[in-house]
Amino acid sequence: MRKKVGVIGGGQLAWMMAQVAPLENIDLWVQTPHHSDSAVSLATQTVFADIDDAIATDILAQNCDVITFENEFVNLEKLQKLADKGGCFYPRLSSLSPLLDKYEQRYFLKNHGFRVPHFQAYNSEADFESFSFPLVLKVRRHGYDGQGTVIIKHREELSSILPKFNGIPLLIEEFIPFERELAIVAARSVNNEIKIYPVVETYQENQVCRWVIAPALITLEQIKEIEAIAKKLLIELDYVGVLAIELFLSKNGKILVNETAPRTHNSGHYTLDACETSQFALQLQAITGKPLGNINLKTSGALMVNLLGYESANSEYLEKREAIKKLGALVHWYGKTESRIGRKMGHVTVLLTENNPEKRYQQGKLIAEKIEFIWNS
Ligand code: ADP
Repeated sequence: MRKKVGVIGGGQLAWMMAQVAPLENIDLWVQTPHHSDSAVSLATQTVFADIDDAIATDILAQNCDVITFENEFVNLEKLQKLADKGGCFYPRLSSLSPLLDKYEQRYFLKNHGFRVPHFQAYNSEADFESFSFPLVLKVRRHGYDGQGTVIIKHREELSSILPKFNGIPLLIEEFIPFERELAIVAARSVNNEIKIYPVVETYQENQVCRWVIAPALITLEQIKEIEAIAKKLLIELDYVGVLAIELFLSKNGKILVNETAPRTHNSGHYTLDACETSQFALQLQAITGKPLGNINLKTSGALMVNLLGYESANSEYLEKREAIKKLGALVHWYGKTESRIGRKMGHVTVLLTENNPEKRYQQGKLIAEKIEFIWNS
């Protein structure tokens, strides 16, 4: 039977979900205030309203079998009223509730036995006493793509940085001098079926993800440990849908959870081209009660590179996109009409064919460099 799914948010994640929705026999409705949002052109219907506008979400609830999320910027109290009168949300609001605030999320993870960096809510300068420098300061809500995450090298910087966050709730966190950053995307369906994609390496510069290589070059024990983290978290949250977990691999081989995102994730974009079932299709299957598809990689590996805005301009960057395609890359252009520094304008995937893991990793890094060179020059 054809189902209707509502998505709160209309950006690139909803856009990629809208691409696969017809194949899953699903009509996708989106809620966004922006007529220029990527998903608007592909959605069956758009409700034009702010993300936290519960009256608009009620329209989704009246028309759709289930509502899901593209971002964490929702108002749970308002949504709970819709759930109380029968609105169906997956992931459940109770699963989202401990995750939306970075401090509360950390607290939840620590309390449930996950290894996390030392952290504390910021109330006054005395709260910095149990930390050494460098340390990390994060806004507790509404941070994304490194916006709201600052690495503070010396105590002296506090006096100039803290006033910039005047009145905004903050989290203080130990700086982890990690060896690598890793991520994993996993899903649990309404019927309790679990699927876990390969662990990937993510590379960030200035707190923003530049590229992802799948699978990560780590040991089998580390893979097993991270898969166990994903499974435990899905179950302890009683989670339905796709969940992403970002992790640090420390210099002494320890794995720490940095954060979890209750949605499809940038670190899983490669699955659109490289896996039998993408994270977007898996999300739709998980929340509509379908059996979860085969998520195996179609090739030995994949590279994903984000095309990040490097200027303020109105350009489609056609020439650069063509040049990148010539490297064998599959270009996903989000159709945003305005480029801004750091804004995700698109991403590209390159299927990696090398079978030797070390050589494949080097192959991936080399191609990432070439793509970034074309994009940024
Ligand atoms: P966002 O939610 O905006 O992506 P994150 O918490 O994931 O913010 O931080 C973005 C990036 O900042 C991380 O991918 C990592 O590179 C760096 N970072 C965040 N927390 C730490 C930490 N405790 N130690 C070292 N680097 C960190």
